[in-house]
Amino acid sequence: MNSPYMGKFRVSQIYKGALHDGLDLVGVDSKLIHSTVNGRVIFAGWENSLNKKQGFGQYVKIRKADSEDVYYFGHLSEIKVKTGDCVNITDVIGTEGSTGKSTGSHCHYCIRKGGIKGMHKNVSEVSGIPNKTGIYDDGYREQKSTNNNKVMLKQGALSYDGKNLAAFVYSQKFDILSRKGDRVVIGINGMVTAAVRADDLIECP
Ligand SMILES: [Zn+2]
Repeated sequence: MNSPYMGKFRVSQIYKGALHDGLDLVGVDSKLIHSTVNGRVIFAGWENSLNKKQGFGQYVKIRKADSEDVYYFGHLSEIKVKTGDCVNITDVIGTEGSTGKSTGSHCHYCIRKGGIKGMHKNVSEVSGIPNKTGIYDDGYREQKSTNNNKVMLKQGALSYDGKNLAAFVYSQKFDILSRKGDRVVIGINGMVTAAVRADDLIECP
């Protein structure tokens, strides 16, 4: 089963297609919300910052890599990623909460094709989380990863200007420090390592 939680969690409301297009989940062991896919954050913020009780409140949308499927994590109390971030499965993306149209702390977890309301997928089938209220165990006991937005360089890739790079760079994970068109500056702890071509980066390994 692949849930947004580590350890035990509760299904408080089941998936009912158009009537309720996701599962409502409540963390038991931990309230941290983890990404359930490798992909890119295409939205992280308030549905309506002027009305914090509207819709999903504070939420995160992640487009699964090489897919049209968009995963939603709604009603968060806190968000730990930003739009454009590349996330791996198990990365922490936020904390469960009760923002938006919500009566108690939970995460509305749903999948919409193309990110379009009404194009919901059966999130219970996809994730393996039973479509039945009750307490379940995700199975994870180790701390899930908190490494967000790390990239690696393809073996043998050159710098953006076509120069050779030191051998060590091919075995390290880097942060994206800046990006302009296909020119991406990568580094570690804010220190620049190189400017490279976007095509030479392996994202979400
Ligand atoms: Zn819900």
